[in-house]
Amino acid sequence: MKRCRRDFLKLTGFSLLGLGVGSPAAGSGESRGEPATGIRWAMVVDTRKCRRTAGCTACIEACHAAHNVPEIAESRHEVKWIWKEKYPAAFCNQVHPYTAESIRNLRVPVLCNHCDRPPCVRVCPTQATFRTQDGIVGMDSHRCIGCRYCLAACPYGSRSFNWLDPRPHIPAIREDYPTRTKGVVEKCNFCQERLAKGKPPACVEASRAAGCGAISFGDLNDPESDVSSLLRTTNSIRRKPNLGTAPSVFYIV
Ligand code: SF4
Repeated sequence: MKRCRRDFLKLTGFSLLGLGVGSPAAGSGESRGEPATGIRWAMVVDTRKCRRTAGCTACIEACHAAHNVPEIAESRHEVKWIWKEKYPAAFCNQVHPYTAESIRNLRVPVLCNHCDRPPCVRVCPTQATFRTQDGIVGMDSHRCIGCRYCLAACPYGSRSFNWLDPRPHIPAIREDYPTRTKGVVEKCNFCQERLAKGKPPACVEASRAAGCGAISFGDLNDPESDVSSLLRTTNSIRRKPNLGTAPSVFYIV
């Protein structure tokens, strides 16, 4: 609960500075009632399926291998794009004393939420982080000056800073994806590079291959997409909805 309050105060602080989540116009059309046009990428994590395959890390391994994410044991230097968080930490304002023990003990995959109104984008002084028309919050590490304002603004801890040169810590460097350098921020990119080739995100593919199929991805503006259908037919939640960031990652509990 304390962490939720801290997040709220942090966002309020940025808002007061004119940098954080302000008016709905700060982001896309989610809360403006605009007609849905173009693609709006979104992800749905079915935690009921995660529960059946507790301990599975296929999605994390696939993502980190696909994006040259370093493996650094020391937690203060850790870099992560997708990881597992205990339910009460991920959904701190959505637990109560009567929440089932099985839910409390659940570890759910968490990542950048590709917020519709991303505070990280607002505070970036060099536009190294930006939101694309299709709802992806991207990162251009060449423009990143390492100020870490985005880290401070993100209420989800979705960004990592390279305190060390990451390259010596990458188990097997892939040539088809760039590595980063010391002094820049990185995070999940919703597999922009794979979407451009018509492929699903690496975590989605890995979760299917592992047999759990807990992660779905698609276009929210397409009523026929998997994500639209899941959101229409099941009850879903998002992380820290009170902050008004409007995440594009949804969870079925
Ligand atoms: Fe930015 Fe954090 Fe939202 Fe990702 S989760 S878009 S890093 S505020």
